[in-house]
Amino acid sequence: MKKNNLLSNSLDRFSLHRGDKSWVIDKLHNKNSRIISVHNSKVLCDNTKQPKAVYLTPKNLAQTKELLDSMIFLGVYEETPYFAVDLHSDESAANLCQQTNAVFQDLKSLISLLDCHDIELLALARFMSYWHSKNQYCGKCGHKTKIFEAGHVRICQNERCKEHYFPSMDPAVIVLVSSKERCLLGRKKIWSEGMYSTIAGFVEPGETVEDAVAREVWEETGVHIEKVAYQHSQPWLFPSSLMLGFTAIAKDEEITIDKNELEDAGWFTRNEIKSDPRILPYKVSIAYKLITEWLNKGD
Ligand SMILES: [Zn+2]
Repeated sequence: MKKNNLLSNSLDRFSLHRGDKSWVIDKLHNKNSRIISVHNSKVLCDNTKQPKAVYLTPKNLAQTKELLDSMIFLGVYEETPYFAVDLHSDESAANLCQQTNAVFQDLKSLISLLDCHDIELLALARFMSYWHSKNQYCGKCGHKTKIFEAGHVRICQNERCKEHYFPSMDPAVIVLVSSKERCLLGRKKIWSEGMYSTIAGFVEPGETVEDAVAREVWEETGVHIEKVAYQHSQPWLFPSSLMLGFTAIAKDEEITIDKNELEDAGWFTRNEIKSDPRILPYKVSIAYKLITEWLNKGD
C-alpha cells in the first residue's frame, strides 16, 4: 500500500468500456468487486482509533435493488473492480451501519489516519456522489437528468434538449516560492495552530496557470515572482479541485498580507520549518510534497 502520497492515481478506469452495460454488470458481479457507500457526503468507515474504509459487496445492498441501477463504476485496482453508491435514504444508511458495525464519517477529518489507497478511492466516490447530487436537473432547460455510462455522464431527459453533463474538476494552483535560503508560507485562520502552507488559489477563466500562480502570490502576499516551474499535480476532491503544483523564485521579499485570505504569511528558513513540527501541512497533500522537496534540496 502507498503511504502518504496521493500524487499518483493507481486506478485503471476502463473509460472505453463504461458505456457497455453488460461489461459493467459483469464487473459488479465479479467475486472481487467492492462498493464504497456515501451518505450526505460522508463515507462508511469503521469507528476505531485507526479507521479503515468499509467496502461492501453487492450482497450488502441486495435489499435496495434500485441502488444497483445507480451504481458508479470507479475503476479496477489490482483485479478488484470498485464502485460507488450514494444512499439517499436515512433508513438505508442506518441499516447499513447496523449491518456492518460502521459509521458514515467526514473523510477530511480522517485524512491523516486512513491508508492512502483508501483516501484515493473514498475521495473519488465522495466526489462522484457530490457531482451527481448537484446535476440532477439540466442547467439549460430545467428538466431531470439521468445517469449513463456507469455514472460518468448525465443526460437531460427533455427530448428537445438532451444536454450531456460530464464530471469535471476545478483547476487550482499551489506554489512554493523561494528567495535565497527561505521560502514563503502562509496560514489561514481555520487551520490548526502553527500550521503554514504554500500559497494556493483557483485559476480564473481565460487565464494561464502560470499567470494564475503569479496573480495568487501577489494578491495574497504582495510578492512578485519569476521562474514559475511546474512540478506535480494532485486531485484534491474536497470538493472538486485539481491542484497544479509549481515552484517559483521571488523578485522581492516585502510581504503585504491580504487579510481576507490569510491570517499570516512569512519567510521561513529550512531550520525553522524542521524545528517546529506544527508547521507542515497534511502529509498526503501536494503542499507537503513541495515543501519537503525544498527542505531536502538544502541537505
Ligand atoms: Zn435540458
